[in-house]
Amino acid sequence: MLKVLKFGGTSVGTLERIQNVANIIKKNKDEGHEVIAVVSAMSGETNKLIEHAQSFSKQPNPVEMDMLLSSGERVTSALLSIALNEQGYKTTSMSGREAGIITDNAHTKARIEDIDTSNIKKSIKEGNTIIVAGFQGVTMDTKRVSTLGRGGSDLSAVAIAGAIGADICEIYTDVDGIYTTDPRIEPKAKKLEKISYDEMLELASLGAKVLQNRSVEMAKKLNVNLVSRSSFTPEVEGTLITKEENIMEKPIVSGIALDKNQIRVGMYGVTDIPGIAASIFSSLADADINVDMIVQTVGVDGKTDLDFTIPSDDFQNCKDVMAKFQKDATKVDYNESICKVSIVGVGMKSHTGVASKAFTALAKENINIRIISTSEIKVSMIVEEKYAELSVRALHEAYNLDK
Ligand code: ADP
Ligand code: ASP
Ligand code: MG
Repeated sequence: MLKVLKFGGTSVGTLERIQNVANIIKKNKDEGHEVIAVVSAMSGETNKLIEHAQSFSKQPNPVEMDMLLSSGERVTSALLSIALNEQGYKTTSMSGREAGIITDNAHTKARIEDIDTSNIKKSIKEGNTIIVAGFQGVTMDTKRVSTLGRGGSDLSAVAIAGAIGADICEIYTDVDGIYTTDPRIEPKAKKLEKISYDEMLELASLGAKVLQNRSVEMAKKLNVNLVSRSSFTPEVEGTLITKEENIMEKPIVSGIALDKNQIRVGMYGVTDIPGIAASIFSSLADADINVDMIVQTVGVDGKTDLDFTIPSDDFQNCKDVMAKFQKDATKVDYNESICKVSIVGVGMKSHTGVASKAFTALAKENINIRIISTSEIKVSMIVEEKYAELSVRALHEAYNLDK
């Protein structure tokens, strides 16, 4: 088989763990598989580099940020290659550029535009095990190094697996699969044998960082056989992320996600005239700010209130944009101590009373819900951040996910 194996930050977090990863790759090679490994930076490394940059500048130049951040995965790819080589395996490390990952110019959150697999293919033919530095590519126009957004090594792995037609893409991390919720928050969470692309995409987009959301989107699009598993217990089978039709039993709710990296923006006493929302949200969109939940109350006396949420990363950016609209409202405020809890399940499509059960579960714990939004397969609620873990556990229990 041709396998793409991706190892996350904790899996390569120390030199011993890099050796452990080398052993997993060796085992796969000895079983006769071709291996393309994709690695993250050592855990904590990307955060450390971001902090270093921020000690000089509140908004560092994104092109320079990518030069900086891409270094972390280059270190681990080279170290892993050296470790395997020492054990008698023919290996080569590759940067994103060398692996042919071509992106747009959106530095620090670049999108993959194309993958030129010729270098990888040639190298495999020469008998190499390839170790790709994840999270990075090269911009098509300016030929600068780019990065793919936080958690982007997952995307590197899936994109390479799709482009090269790998039989499987295994994402090795520090948990042995996808659970009904983050097992660090709810120890009673249950491991899922399989989960559909759509549910996984919702969970990932709603805060379950076990897989980066864009990697799941890409896996669905390219039909990649995606598996989430642990590098600490490689003998344990993980969770398969697959097409909905491959899953026999569809639970109404499959999982609960939590996202603490959200900020609620409140605009009060906004002049209630046509076009005002259009102009605010177009300006936010132009600044590349991903607005999520929006609530507008009914206007009274020609004034209305507007509430919406944005990712914490866009806070400074959002404040800059909102400065323009200060004059259109009596007050604009920001609340950083909120979070979003969500329930996700394809079975919701055909069942009633799913959302009300969530509201009841939170009410029982005396947790106030500030904003609600729903789609076909999810219900999201904004609550105070101090109730984050309690909300997750209450919802987990309400839908019997521990059973
Ligand atoms: P890596 O560094 O390997 O990329 P991440 O830290 O990005 O790993 O993702 C793994 C973490 O995701 C786990 O340690 C776990 O706490 C968290 N997580 C959140 N939701 C889930 C879930 N539903 N199932 C499993 N893990 C989850
Ligand atoms: N090192 C990058 C991050 O921490 C990418 C990744 O690990 O997937 O976001
Ligand atoms: Mg990750």
